[in-house]
Amino acid sequence: MRKYINDKKPEIYAEEIIQALNLEPPIDLEKICEYYDVNVNNEPLKNVEAILIISKGKKNILINESKYIYNERKRFTIAHEIGHLFIPWHDNISGCTGIGNFNSEDNVENEADLFASALLIPKNDIIKDIEGKSVTLSLIEELARKYQVSLGAMTRRILKYTDDNVVALFYFKNGKKIVQASSASFSSSLKSGKIKESAADKMITGKMYKSKVLQEHTYNTWFSDSKEGYMIVEESLYQSNFDRVFTLIRKYTFTDNNESILDF
Ligand SMILES: [Zn+2]
Repeated sequence: MRKYINDKKPEIYAEEIIQALNLEPPIDLEKICEYYDVNVNNEPLKNVEAILIISKGKKNILINESKYIYNERKRFTIAHEIGHLFIPWHDNISGCTGIGNFNSEDNVENEADLFASALLIPKNDIIKDIEGKSVTLSLIEELARKYQVSLGAMTRRILKYTDDNVVALFYFKNGKKIVQASSASFSSSLKSGKIKESAADKMITGKMYKSKVLQEHTYNTWFSDSKEGYMIVEESLYQSNFDRVFTLIRKYTFTDNNESILDF
């Protein structure tokens, strides 16, 4: 494990920028780049999504724009490159792939992802925004819009700070699940293979023609362990451009009684 310089974690460098420029969400990346004299340009790059080059005092971020359809993704990429610039032990030239995956074999890439997440979704703001609220898909969507980040980036950040028992995953046609994030209190074991009773499976296999569904299930619909007997809520969102379903599973609470399923 890398020893952080002065024990400072990557997130701390992001918080210092937020404080120095007195920033509020949505974080103004242009203002940051202007203040610190960083040029951002789109280039037809090969094999990398973005690159930071510091040479002769000039700081340049080059973005492979062909890969970036969404503004939210572009923002995360720029924030990631700003991370390489501000984290003192990172190199002066960083070519990046898999930005935002948080699972690179190169820890420097994961540190830049952590930095980007902390810069775009400041800890103090997000804690205030989720205080006293259940983590629902609607809340994640609302806050993703407010902070101008992707659903995935927002989910990861919210699950880091919530007390709720929640897991977020991608569900694919063959039943494969990729967990994106889970909250600290989550400890259940997901069932392997296809979960035919789930809304996620029905959406991806074309048995349910809705883009967004909320369903109540018994605990063992999704989980294989038998330690818990409570009801769960599945909220699924079909992402046709990726041919996958984004699914949030949480413990059923009494407030779910008051939420209208007709909203979906
Ligand atoms: Zn990088």
